[in-house]
Amino acid sequence: MTIEGFSGINGSFQDRVHALLSQQVRDWDLARNNYSGLKRVMRRPLDKPEDADFYVQCNPARIRSSAAKVDARSIRERPCFLCEKHLPAQQRWVEFGREYLILVNPFPIFPRHLTIPVRTHEDQLIAGRMDDMLQLAKALEDFVVFYNGPRCGASAPDHFHFQAGNKGFLPVERMRQDAGKLLRQNDHVDIRAMEQYHRRIIMLRSSDKQALAGCFEQIYDFLKPLQPDQPEPMLNILAGYHAPEWQVLVLPRKEHRPWQFHAQGDEQVMLSPASVDLGGVLVTPREKDYARMDLALMEDIFAQVCIDAANWDDLLNELVHKKP
Ligand SMILES: [Zn+2]
Repeated sequence: MTIEGFSGINGSFQDRVHALLSQQVRDWDLARNNYSGLKRVMRRPLDKPEDADFYVQCNPARIRSSAAKVDARSIRERPCFLCEKHLPAQQRWVEFGREYLILVNPFPIFPRHLTIPVRTHEDQLIAGRMDDMLQLAKALEDFVVFYNGPRCGASAPDHFHFQAGNKGFLPVERMRQDAGKLLRQNDHVDIRAMEQYHRRIIMLRSSDKQALAGCFEQIYDFLKPLQPDQPEPMLNILAGYHAPEWQVLVLPRKEHRPWQFHAQGDEQVMLSPASVDLGGVLVTPREKDYARMDLALMEDIFAQVCIDAANWDDLLNELVHKKP
């Protein structure tokens, strides 16, 4: 099986990525079917009829990801689908630096959905990669780049990857900056806290990449000892570049999946919360979960998986009083 890199056309890096998307959706059956299927998926608002903050999407093609077995044994026993040697023959890519491949996600949630693995098979751990994330967000200005921790929605916890989806899709992007509580503001970084239906978000804004990465490190270092059994503090991150600033949303977590995910029969809800769900589009592969989702169930799920109130208050306190 020969896989060639996609050379793209002349123009900006992002133009090459858009060209890759067009080529893959045109020439690769799986991508074509799933991207055209996306136009027919059901979606409805949960909290208000217009400009809602939360939607539910019924997306049957995502069953593979929502129900992914990510225990150590299942992971060991399957071929890694993000390693180059196992990529489908039709998959093309654009290289980002020496380390990353930009791939079209053939099981999309967004009308433009990318998976961005590193070229070596190594664990999903964010430490030391925030700078890469910010560089990607700047190079892909039409996209929001996001990270799902190994127990926070990543279906390949053994192979480091980001994802990206076109801007304008996730309601959380529209969240007004002044809606949050200002924790700290200086020449470099504006730090705010937002809370809605037990979804707790730290919003960082800055045009200084290093200062942002430093702030993220402070959050990471505070959370790490709270979960000594985890390889990293559980979290989801979304980053977008709006010249001249980045906006980074950090969502600390305490659980991988709600109890309903593991339930049997009627009580089961197939929703494995990750960046996209917490960003305001709850993805359910099954129609019955789509039909029953409402604000109360959503809030119950968020309360189970997001950081709890006591640790959240301590984190905010830390961010107000200690400079990194
Ligand atoms: Zn791999």
